[in-house]
Amino acid sequence: MPLDDASTRLADVREKITRAASLAGREPDSIELIAVSKTHDAASIRPLIDAGQRVFGENRVQEAAAKWPELRETTSGIALHLIGQLQSNKAEEAVALFDAIHSVDRPSLVDALGKAMDRTGRRPACFIQVNIGDEPQKGGCLVADLPALLAGVRAADLPLAGLMCIPPADVEPAPYFALLAKLARDSDCSGLSMGMSSDYETAVNIGATCVRVGTALFGTREI
Ligand SMILES: *Cc1c(COP(=O)(O)O)cnc(C)c1O
Repeated sequence: MPLDDASTRLADVREKITRAASLAGREPDSIELIAVSKTHDAASIRPLIDAGQRVFGENRVQEAAAKWPELRETTSGIALHLIGQLQSNKAEEAVALFDAIHSVDRPSLVDALGKAMDRTGRRPACFIQVNIGDEPQKGGCLVADLPALLAGVRAADLPLAGLMCIPPADVEPAPYFALLAKLARDSDCSGLSMGMSSDYETAVNIGATCVRVGTALFGTREI
């Protein structure tokens, strides 16, 4: 049977998270489901809101700024997470719009976010994105640069929520999730933002505290 409506898809993903959490001896409530709504318009997002989802992820500041203010006006309790790369010159706009930023990956962005938080008085939770496969084209700080970046985030007093990664495509993700979990333990970080539509159950098994799920909730993206 096709999972053809938003509430069915949402229930299915939630059930899989619950099952994966139980297998790992974890509380299902300790895992936050971020519905990744990038490229989807308000009309596609609304059914998921109506089904009870309140936490959403976007990868572009501009796109989120165009879509979300109106959706937020009609629904209370929406939390927006930025999961895509952030240019320093958009830090202030991002801090004003988002409740969490998962892509902190370099010292210049730490500086820009610190200033933006001082100016706006808003303090979104920050995840450091780690380039967990040390891939040249990927965002995120190199594993070797993580200790220095963590020290910078702590010195700037950004609200550090944890670490985030996107494992290399087309290979078994579990070893990369396990490495991120170890890096988090070694550096006293509690949050782990890892797992997407194809691998969120694996990520939950290995300790994810937020999973970022798009396709399994919204269907395939056209762009
Ligand atoms: C698009 C995106 C996701 C969601 O991917 P799906 O495979 O559609 O679930 C998760 N994380 C990041 C950083 C993304 O850009």
